[in-house]
Amino acid sequence: MKNKTAIKIIIWDVDGTLYPSQPGTRAFNPVAAVFDQAKQALTRQYWQQPYKPYLVKLFNQYKRKYHSTTKTLAVITNQSLSKVNKYIETRLKDRHLSPDPRLIKCFKQLDTFYHLALRNGGRAETLRILKMLGLDQITYPYPTQLGPFLKVWGAVDDFHEVKPAPFVFDQVKIWVYRHFFNQPGKPVSYRLVNQAIKQVLVVGDRPKVDLKPAKMAGFQTALVWHQAEKLNYIDYQFKTIYHLCRWLVQG
Ligand SMILES: [Mg+2]
Repeated sequence: MKNKTAIKIIIWDVDGTLYPSQPGTRAFNPVAAVFDQAKQALTRQYWQQPYKPYLVKLFNQYKRKYHSTTKTLAVITNQSLSKVNKYIETRLKDRHLSPDPRLIKCFKQLDTFYHLALRNGGRAETLRILKMLGLDQITYPYPTQLGPFLKVWGAVDDFHEVKPAPFVFDQVKIWVYRHFFNQPGKPVSYRLVNQAIKQVLVVGDRPKVDLKPAKMAGFQTALVWHQAEKLNYIDYQFKTIYHLCRWLVQG
């Protein structure tokens, strides 16, 4: 249920949310290029045929089911998620993001909220991205894992799963309840967890990957950087992350 004043905790997607997806055509987008290369190399290796009509079709069919490229590749090449993720992330090591002064200012103003980061990838690469964005420079009135973030999850390492799998969101939900709401010795129940989670906003750039499963788990949801047609699992929409920030600061 949509209720702005209830929001106390925010779970941020990272890629495409804390920084916009890289502009330009696919050919000049280093991240898209690495994903394309991974698709070709890993499927060719396993199927011993070029990534041409059959494999492209196979990939696309499973992608519609799993949404994540990493997971789709893991499925159609019989590998573990972490192996495929490692293949991709080692090739992204030289990508560079710069500190974003507007984003840093945003998080400095949002210190009345608790923040968590949830990225589809490895833990180390997630921390590296947050540092490249300059978010580690921020100090908060309470101890955090990095900058404003109490907790940073790389779903591949932390859950051996990726969004949009409900498993990821349920694990996060239980962590949030245990961390923020639980009192040792007091009863805990499915109902209490669901009640508490209404105070949590999940922010992402991909409706089906970040927000649909978040809504199914009972979180409030916000879409940034994209305008989607009205979807019943998106509570709020913002042109950029800075618009969302201003809206949150206004209380
Ligand atoms: Mg994203």
